[in-house]
Amino acid sequence: MRPMRRRNFGMLTVGTAAGLMTTQAQANAQTATPGGGGTVIRDVVMAVHGGAGSIPRGSLTPDREKGFRDGLEQALRAGFELLRQGRSGLDAVEAAVNVLEDNENFNAGKGAVFNTDAEHELDASIMNGKDLKSGAVAGVHNTKNPITLARMVMERSPHVLMAGKGADIFALRNGVAYTTQDYFFTQRRWDALIAAKGTQAATTADIGGTGTVGAVVVTGARDVAAATSTGGLTNKLVGRVGDSPYVGAGTYANNRTVAISCTGTGEVFIRGLAAYDISALMEYARLAVQDAAARVITEKIPALGATGGAIALDPRGNLATPHSTDGLINGYITRRGEVVTRLYNDETPPR
Ligand code: ASP
Repeated sequence: MRPMRRRNFGMLTVGTAAGLMTTQAQANAQTATPGGGGTVIRDVVMAVHGGAGSIPRGSLTPDREKGFRDGLEQALRAGFELLRQGRSGLDAVEAAVNVLEDNENFNAGKGAVFNTDAEHELDASIMNGKDLKSGAVAGVHNTKNPITLARMVMERSPHVLMAGKGADIFALRNGVAYTTQDYFFTQRRWDALIAAKGTQAATTADIGGTGTVGAVVVTGARDVAAATSTGGLTNKLVGRVGDSPYVGAGTYANNRTVAISCTGTGEVFIRGLAAYDISALMEYARLAVQDAAARVITEKIPALGATGGAIALDPRGNLATPHSTDGLINGYITRRGEVVTRLYNDETPPR
């Protein structure tokens, strides 16, 4: 296996001294746990993902690879810098997701996929592990950064989930950046829509699109938070809503257990209540994060008929990145500020 790309941004001062590891120890930190459980990476402060899917090595141009890696790295760095300034986990995951929403390589904000009417309908949710507060938006059309709107729903409305026109109006009223639909356009997503329309019936099996984004964090006070943002699936029916704005399915955070952001075929993640199920296995069955996450993502979800992945970070800094797809685009930053980005299938071995 070739080395993953690593960069160092300096040590995060909010981390506990007991948790610090040497660079060599970090290099060795990704280990398979005995007993068939998942893989765990230790001493992580924050992780992001850019969707589940298959990227065989050699299939990306150097420019495209750089776009992905730089996007993940910038997102991690944005969140990490806020933590270093003493800001909250919510601030960190929102900032990280904003970076990915603004990067057209990912299926969220700019670069989102098209629905059957060649529109963009965007979904997002955010959750705070300390008090279980959460906010979400579904099917928004004109909000440049849906994750910021999701947070606003959480903090400035009595509601948890707002949808469609009302959510966009709520954004306008609260000063969230408004944009016309053409802002989200990319040729690549347009070509994918045309290709999808050339195929037969639009089933969830053949309308896929990858690039959903998410972030999870743990602060020095061991508060966790999670956020997910997406354009959904290419050629999805108008009005279709996936798991990403569904707290407990695509996103979950609880200081007692874990922060999670999922990616994959949303319908099945909703039916399987994937994110909450990982948390419940940790809370009630006392499973470690890597075992709980592997059980749900690589066993339960495929048994229900879908594939996907997740990033799951517990309050002690243990990160699991299970996926039943060939790969999971993701990255993480450790307490020492070391960044690792993983794009290719051989960088993210299953389980
Ligand atoms: N989970 C997203 C949805 O179903 C899509 C994805 O993660 O690729 O909307």
